[in-house]
Amino acid sequence: MKTNSVFDRLSKAMCCGCGVCAGICPTQAITIRVTSEGINYPVLDTTKCIFCGKCQQVCPGFGFDHKELNISIFGQAPENALIGNFQAIYKGYSGNGDLRFSCSSGGLVTTMSIELLRNKVVDGVVVTRLKYGREVRAEAFIASTEEEIFNAKGSKYCPVSLDKAIIELKRNPRKVAVVCLPCHAIALRKAMSHDKVLKESIVLILALFCNQAPSYRALSRYLKKHKVSASQVTYFQWRGDGWPGKTKIKVDNQHEISELSTDAWATCFGSGYFTPLACYCCQDFFGDFSDISFGDAWLPEQKGDTIGTNVMIIRSDKGKQIVDGLVDAKKIHADNLRLQAILNAFTINTRTKRICYPLHANLIGNCPGVTGMSVLGAPSCKVVVKEFIRLVKLFVGVRLHA
Ligand SMILES: Cc1cc2nc3c(=O)[nH]c(=O)nc-3n(C[C@H](O)[C@H](O)[C@H](O)COP(=O)(O)OP(=O)(O)OC[C@H]3O[C@@H](n4cnc5c(N)ncnc54)[C@H](O)[C@@H]3O)c2cc1C
Ligand code: SF4
Ligand code: SF4
Ligand code: SF4
Repeated sequence: MKTNSVFDRLSKAMCCGCGVCAGICPTQAITIRVTSEGINYPVLDTTKCIFCGKCQQVCPGFGFDHKELNISIFGQAPENALIGNFQAIYKGYSGNGDLRFSCSSGGLVTTMSIELLRNKVVDGVVVTRLKYGREVRAEAFIASTEEEIFNAKGSKYCPVSLDKAIIELKRNPRKVAVVCLPCHAIALRKAMSHDKVLKESIVLILALFCNQAPSYRALSRYLKKHKVSASQVTYFQWRGDGWPGKTKIKVDNQHEISELSTDAWATCFGSGYFTPLACYCCQDFFGDFSDISFGDAWLPEQKGDTIGTNVMIIRSDKGKQIVDGLVDAKKIHADNLRLQAILNAFTINTRTKRICYPLHANLIGNCPGVTGMSVLGAPSCKVVVKEFIRLVKLFVGVRLHA
């Protein structure tokens, strides 16, 4: 039966599990569930669907006009297609040394979120925390205190759905900033162009650069490797405590297991075996549709940095005004970075995502890809070989971990 909903044409290649469809649905007919593959995926209660089509309008997997969306947000198409619209690029870090050390990169996102709340620019910030119980699961929520924002610091390399935060925002509208991934940002921008409450409530989008969000199977595998059952975990972090940081498990509030996050990434989370199909079809690395986007400062001059530094791309006037104010108030530190320096640092990410992943989307997904952008040009032989290896890993991974 045709429902006008996302379910008319849903596939795992086009669904990043962002949960915006479930958040926007007027009858709450959609629930986001964690599948046996460890990804977030929507489920429809057909008895509640009123065929309004709203979920389809906001879904990033249904594609969009990249140029049009840029013009509607920033007033122009991007001059550089690899990085999107921007006004300034900086490397920087939090003015609070403890925060800088304890966050994932340089602590800019947490510092900025706290300052936005403290200065009453917003009434809350959508951030992501971990919930412990039978399983360890991530939950996006509206933090309304500095403590809640602080406790939600750190990158969660797992699926994150915004559904509950959006439902809460629509129920009780207030000014918020949203910390999210590039796919979330696209879904939110689409939602904001259709939904007045969201348009008026979301005043700032802060996106994290994103190469992939590994499935929950990666986390299960990691805990198994360390002989810990999920129900024993009382604290988990992928990154933090310096740079690139430490992956830590606290077991039954008693003992702690810790290793370099680069080792945990290489052997488990970043192995490629746990990359969801949707991430293999996603073409946005830098968070093109945010006001400001943030990543790690993987720059040659940062070799030996043990505390942490961010790179940030300022895209909107609002973003620029906020960053300038925080630099003047010495809450954050920021130095100009040349466009070429950031492109060099992230060559592999941008080239594979912008050039190869549209091919994946067409070939394996038969869809526009999670963030359907256009193919920029023919990939080089080196890129094609790397992509071939990735696809073999994906193929093997799906079979090994299915
Ligand atoms: C899945 C994922 C993939 C990433 N891939 C890359 C990459 O390839 N290269 C790169 O340079 N940087 C990547 N990043 C970004 C990087 O890890 C840092 O998050 C970023 O540099 C900000 O650092 P910070 O110290 O300012 O963040 P912090 O101050 O530690 O704050 C992080 C904020 O992000 C929120 N958050 C954490 N995880 C998620 C999530 N999954 N979804 C939504 N919100 C979340 C937290 O609640 C917190 O508010 C990725 C992040 C994630 C979550
Ligand atoms: S009621 Fe509307 S938004 Fe909800 S599932 Fe049906 S078509 Fe989608
Ligand atoms: S990509 Fe997001 S909006 Fe689209 S179906 Fe999946 S969860 Fe819903
Ligand atoms: S790679 Fe793309 S689809 Fe996957 S989590 Fe990151 S932004 Fe979302």
